[in-house]
Amino acid sequence: MTRDQAATLVAAWATAVTDRDAAAHDRIWADGTGIAPDALRDNLFALPLAEFAATPAPEDLHPGGIDVDVTWRLDHESVAARHRLRLATTAGTAAEPKLATLRTPPGEVDLLTPQWYEERLTVERSDHVVVLAGRDQAPTRWHAVLEPALAVAGMRVGRDVGTVTVQAPATEAVLAQLIGAELGPDATWAALCRPVGRGSPAPVRLLLHPVRAGAMTDPERAALMRHEAVHLLTDSPRSSLPLWVEEGYAEAVTWADDDAGGWRQAEPLLAELAAGGQPAWPPTDGEFGGAAAARAYALAWSGCRWLLEVAGWPELRRWYDLQAPVDGTAGIDEIAALQQVYGITDAQRRERWAAWLGERT
Ligand SMILES: [Zn+2]
Repeated sequence: MTRDQAATLVAAWATAVTDRDAAAHDRIWADGTGIAPDALRDNLFALPLAEFAATPAPEDLHPGGIDVDVTWRLDHESVAARHRLRLATTAGTAAEPKLATLRTPPGEVDLLTPQWYEERLTVERSDHVVVLAGRDQAPTRWHAVLEPALAVAGMRVGRDVGTVTVQAPATEAVLAQLIGAELGPDATWAALCRPVGRGSPAPVRLLLHPVRAGAMTDPERAALMRHEAVHLLTDSPRSSLPLWVEEGYAEAVTWADDDAGGWRQAEPLLAELAAGGQPAWPPTDGEFGGAAAARAYALAWSGCRWLLEVAGWPELRRWYDLQAPVDGTAGIDEIAALQQVYGITDAQRRERWAAWLGERT
């Protein structure tokens, strides 16, 4: 197949998706090694697409196929996701060439493919949540916890995010494709807010780990969703603030109406302090991803929980908003915000926070 023929097919595909024309879609696609043509069609037609474009990538044809740049925007998202797909061109007859999906070889997860290219989806929508769910991922379960989490967290942080997108892939292999990286052995996260696809800007979505998120109890799931709701409301994946500020604020909201729960999750930290441990304050960004992640989260929470002890929610919110203004402009640094809202220096904070925490051990 020539590049021109392939480009014609790619253009016809984009039109078929935009027009929701099943017959046209089926004429373009042959069986490949990846997702079946009918599942690909059903997925794309089920998505609330406001925009879908597909064009050949600038590079030459790879042997036996073509690389295609796809731009797709969901109707509740303000920016489009962009992906590059490696497609096969195939068979059919000379008079009727077709496109075919390719399964990414094991270990090659850097292609960042979209979920609709990897597995059959169920798309379910509630008032403020759209869930793209792989097999057995029970989307309604996530609507039921994320809707109230967005409402409660929205009141705490004083922000509104409109409608959010959750992606719940069926397997770790699909999840790795979505984030474009193998899941490292240290990774323990059950949910992750991040920009999806190539380039910038990209839509920020909530990705769920198929095993860990699925295995949670109801209270654990509710706490996780309150935490992630804060990241969605504050657009924290795009922020450049220290991680302890983002994670501490999210944890403060998570436990705002369950103070006992907050202290329970901090028990390992308190035990460490009681045994004479002196963890460095504040936790570094690196500590949130490694073996000491649980302690880093507990420390970050304790920092914000102490600020709540000093003054209430309006002050904590102002401390955060000064660093990450609602309008997306650059804010002031954490120690300047501390000074402005609480009237203390970093050294005074360390001393008083450590004494307060010590009383709890
Ligand atoms: Zn977080």
